[in-house]
Amino acid sequence: MGEMIFRNYFNKIYKKTRIDFYKELEEDLVNENRKFIITANPETIMRAEFEEPDLKNAFFSEKSCVIADGVGVLKGAKILEIDIPETILGVSTCEELFKMCDRNNKSIFLFGAKSDVLAKLVARIKRDYKNVNIVGAVDGYVDDKNKVFDEIENKKPDVVLVALGIPMQERLIFNNLDRFNKGIFVGVGGSFDVLSGDKKGAPEFFKKTNLEWLYRITREPKRLKRFFKYNVRYWKLVKKEK
Ligand code: UDP
Repeated sequence: MGEMIFRNYFNKIYKKTRIDFYKELEEDLVNENRKFIITANPETIMRAEFEEPDLKNAFFSEKSCVIADGVGVLKGAKILEIDIPETILGVSTCEELFKMCDRNNKSIFLFGAKSDVLAKLVARIKRDYKNVNIVGAVDGYVDDKNKVFDEIENKKPDVVLVALGIPMQERLIFNNLDRFNKGIFVGVGGSFDVLSGDKKGAPEFFKKTNLEWLYRITREPKRLKRFFKYNVRYWKLVKKEK
């Protein structure tokens, strides 16, 4: 892999602040612009580069907007002297979208996670965001995931959150994107598990010290292997390029 190529991942990532991003996002929502958001962490980048050409295509597509979903991306960028001011987490982006939909009476389609998790999330949105119109909620364990997009196309939601994990969520969104002329599409990974209250989000201490990833590993030790696999390689590449 050429050095410039790796740097390009960071060049593609959104470089303004959270406030700017959410302001632009609400404008896109209100103006019914189509938008595809990819949340990137070191694992996303490593899998795009070495394992998932579809994910790489989606990442570098001019149709996608990539946000820094974790401190690993921020620090990697900093080492390469690329300025990304702060993280914009997937979970926070979901929560902001709920608020925006509530403020603007917009509709939302939820796709992914286990059915009990999804039911809890639907109940929470109905309770906390009364003006949000949930036009569909399909769990992530249906056989034909592509077919769910027929339903999404029929409903024409303003926001579509896909919580299937990488790279499945990005592949599905990217393959189906051209069927839509509006909609904010976001691949949100395990966010529904957190937002439903099923899995606890990291306590303030971990968030403030940027150790959310560590908290996640302590809660789910099976993540450790995956974490090492991608992160060791990531930091090697960052240092090599530096
Ligand atoms: N998931 C799903 N269908 C599948 C596989 C996974 O709905 O066939 C869901 C799973 O329940 C979880 C999410 O996708 O809510 C993936 O979460 P994970 O934390 O692994 O993703 P990450 O945030 O690390 O990308």
